[in-house]
Amino acid sequence: MNYDENNIFAKILRGEIPCKKIYEDDYVLSFHDINPQKKIHALIIPKGKYINLDDFSKNASEKEIIGFVKGISIVAKKLGISSDIARGYRTLSNISEHGGQEVPHLHFHIFGGENVGKMVQ
Ligand code: AMP
Repeated sequence: MNYDENNIFAKILRGEIPCKKIYEDDYVLSFHDINPQKKIHALIIPKGKYINLDDFSKNASEKEIIGFVKGISIVAKKLGISSDIARGYRTLSNISEHGGQEVPHLHFHIFGGENVGKMVQ
């Protein structure tokens, strides 16, 4: 499967579609999910063109991987939900068909602001 340049997150990265931005650096962009499933529902995406976590771990540079992982905690802290200052959160990444992935650009969901309940519903 090739990377789809016209997926919605690619358009957000190119500035063609607006987003409610939370954080941005050289490696990641984070914004609020358009259809929140919890009190806080953010998304974080790498700036590089990666379809999902398998593609990312295989093809991304170490700098990109480190930048992405660190980005998750930076965003959680900015949202006021990280475990050092608050009560924590959940990350989740859907991968391909059986994972239920809808947008084919790697993203982690960040859920919090309340007890987010059982792991899989
Ligand atoms: P997934 O099923 O893991 O691929 O999740 C895709 C997520 O992207 C869903 O939670 C959608 O609500 C969210 N989404 C789709 N379009 C947008 C958008 N334009 N801005 C923010 N979030 C979006």
